[in-house]
Amino acid sequence: MAAIGRFQKGDEIFYAKVVDGELYRLLGDVFGSPSYEKKPTPVKGVKTLVPVAPSKIVAVGLNYADHARESGKPVPKEPLFWLKAPTSLIPDGAKIEIPFAAHRVDYEAELAIVIGRRVRNVTPAAAARYIFGYTAAQDVSDRTIQNSESQWARCKSFDTFTPLGPYVETKIDPHDLTIQLFQNGQLRQNSNTSQLLFDCYRLVSFISTNLTLLPGDVILTGTPSGVGPIASGDRLEVRIQGLGPLVNTVK
Ligand code: MG
Repeated sequence: MAAIGRFQKGDEIFYAKVVDGELYRLLGDVFGSPSYEKKPTPVKGVKTLVPVAPSKIVAVGLNYADHARESGKPVPKEPLFWLKAPTSLIPDGAKIEIPFAAHRVDYEAELAIVIGRRVRNVTPAAAARYIFGYTAAQDVSDRTIQNSESQWARCKSFDTFTPLGPYVETKIDPHDLTIQLFQNGQLRQNSNTSQLLFDCYRLVSFISTNLTLLPGDVILTGTPSGVGPIASGDRLEVRIQGLGPLVNTVK
């Protein structure tokens, strides 16, 4: 396990390796060949941030057959993707805010890919070299807007609609991980990344044939079946095998 997080103390933002709850500050470029301080940094007054600061979030839809079925939509022949605003990101522990009280807003647990090197036109076989690691995410969605518009950027880009974290795992095989979402302790989504229609390497390959991915860019790989509405006071927990749990509440 090599969990890399991004943190803030006062005005200073830094990356660190997280080992047994201790933070070892990173020296150098997080996407280069960094080293780490030998002694842990005191955690008093340290805030956990979203683990990366992406230039863009690429979100993939209908990438589990059971979720396409529950949405009443055909399984796509090629990955279906759109862009989510980076300003929608929130870290582990932060609150999701529902923009319109009358709208239906859903949770969506997703495995997130974090890009480590600039990449354009890569094959699936070579894609792993460009991936920094993996983390947990939610692709929170305003269904009321989604069902009334053909573009999905608006319904998924509200502030707080992309919980991400807590850390990026850089040494994990993404192809056979259980993925679950618990709402107030109740299991709502329960699948495995082996069920992805287009796996992580094929997604990086396909997206990179359309646009350039930069270090820190995030790809949301899609959600399995079991999506449902959230309400104020809810506690939502994404659990993906090998990754830290991502916990957020709803305001
Ligand atoms: Mg989604």
